[in-house]
Amino acid sequence: MQLLKRFGWAALVLVVALIAVLPLPDFWITQLNYIALYSLAGLGLVLLTGVAGLTSFGQAAFVGIGAYATAWITLNTGLSPWLTLFIGLAITGVSALVVGGITLRMSGHFLPLATIAWGLSLYYVMGNLDALGKYDGLLGIPGLSIFGFDIGQGRGFFLLAWGVLLTAALAILQLLDSRPGRAMRSLRTGTQMAEAMGVNTLRYKIIIFVIAALLASVSGWLFAHFQRSINPSPFGLKMGIEYLFMTVVGGVGHVWGAVIGALLTKLLEDQLQVLLPMLIGTSGSYETIVFGIVLVLTLKFLPNGLWSLVDRRLPRAPRRLDWPNVAALAERAKPATGELVLDVQKIRKQFGGLTAVNDISFQIHAGQIVGLIGPNGAGKSTTFNLITGVAALTTGRVLFRGQAISGLKSREIAARGMSRTFQHVKMIPDMTVLENVALGAHLRGAKGVASAMARLNREEEKQLFAQAQKQLERIGMGAYLHEQAGNLAMGPQRLMEIARALCSDPALLLLDEPAAGLRHKEKQGLAGVLRQLRSEGMSILLVEHDMDLVMDVCDHLVVMEFGTLLTQGTPEEVQNNPQVRAAYLGTEH
Ligand code: ADP
Ligand code: MG
Repeated sequence: MQLLKRFGWAALVLVVALIAVLPLPDFWITQLNYIALYSLAGLGLVLLTGVAGLTSFGQAAFVGIGAYATAWITLNTGLSPWLTLFIGLAITGVSALVVGGITLRMSGHFLPLATIAWGLSLYYVMGNLDALGKYDGLLGIPGLSIFGFDIGQGRGFFLLAWGVLLTAALAILQLLDSRPGRAMRSLRTGTQMAEAMGVNTLRYKIIIFVIAALLASVSGWLFAHFQRSINPSPFGLKMGIEYLFMTVVGGVGHVWGAVIGALLTKLLEDQLQVLLPMLIGTSGSYETIVFGIVLVLTLKFLPNGLWSLVDRRLPRAPRRLDWPNVAALAERAKPATGELVLDVQKIRKQFGGLTAVNDISFQIHAGQIVGLIGPNGAGKSTTFNLITGVAALTTGRVLFRGQAISGLKSREIAARGMSRTFQHVKMIPDMTVLENVALGAHLRGAKGVASAMARLNREEEKQLFAQAQKQLERIGMGAYLHEQAGNLAMGPQRLMEIARALCSDPALLLLDEPAAGLRHKEKQGLAGVLRQLRSEGMSILLVEHDMDLVMDVCDHLVVMEFGTLLTQGTPEEVQNNPQVRAAYLGTEH
């Protein structure tokens, strides 16, 4: 696989070098130059929309900032374009931080709307400022040269633009296969799971937004010095929509989708502009209509874009498990057996007039499995959410290892050694089991985006994967390492979530209905896993409907009904409690 990848890259570089020396018509070189520029902006959308699920129509505006910054500064100060590139990047980065900082807190359709507003307003700023030449733009921008060689056009520019594009593509591919990359890929499925693994999701969204903007800015810089003149129209909302359009058609979930999309759009545009007027008899921008039809058909029949056709056929080899001698990750000091781990003190949650959790108190000691049971609607999940910081307490206190954790965010609670699974499995379906589980070790690594892009994170990655493999083997999932998580049956999926939670080196494990949807054999397997974890000193809070399992593995039971504590005690005490029998006979079982 490694070899194949290297071969692929060597082939790509060779093709680019060949195109540069072959006697192709200049027209084609120019087209390829534009394709590289579109692809660069599209790469940003792959990260933003494809990876993180954030739809942006504002990408063209960031191309515009890069272009106008370099054009205005080189024209007015005579600084070298190689310097103004970085000034443009700084201006773009700051604007993206501001725009992203405001808009990325919004959810649902507010973000796309905000990017539309942003794209529109920047277009009018560019078109109305005297200093920027209003709608006529800026003329006489110098071309690029290096050591006296003119690379401002033709083949010189081709090598520069495609060199930049391939470097950016490589950096992003390496980013996506890394600790921060896995955190970014988790964003598309919502933020709850990632936050529970300790990921600061807002921070990652902003980082992605800034990277996407910087890629656009580089594209704008290249564009300005290639065209030698700029005006607002290629940076308006229409172009923002087109960037999204071409990337979605190419495959917004893949780095190469951006390139395929730009290639196809540009080639189609050229052909249609010649062909359609001949067919129809009059001239006009009929190609827009054809593009609309292509987009609708792609969304209908190839929702993952054209690249997915290729991607499906590429050979996939399992990740090499090349970490036999890597140093183990540091582990946190664990509570001694019997020590008080969780102290829930009269917690209450009110939803309007409904008291979902009514002054519930209980304790968990190290090495104990405590079951939280009760009929549907009793308030178990809400209790769970109050403890893990997903929901805010109305009143009461939660102490974890002697410290108050009430009011902390769920990722802060995770950092203190509480880890959880979800009633409805939350995972990244297109990653392998091993990669999904490695996300659980997020807080135990530190390497960020820059080291991931430059692949300076190898040692730490090995440590994280070694940990993921260890936890999967610990619960008997060693045979599933390379399986795509989305292809797993319910049983292995739930076990994968437990392994992911264990990867964070927790002192307390919270499992929300781990046996739901499991077959009898799988439930027995789960019981074995829970007992084994306890024997290794783990403390567990178990919300579960399956009474056989609960009675079988729990040391202590907390029974809730209508938000209140019905009783608590050993499984035998609870089983013999007439109130519990009544509660259960009255509702279920
Ligand atoms: P369980 O997990 O024991 O089935 P829940 O904790 O999910 O119970 O729910 C307890 C009660 O709180 C139910 O009556 C439920 O409808 C209500 N409830 C839960 N979450 C919310 C919410 N976000 N807003 C309003 N009511 C809620
Ligand atoms: Mg529930």
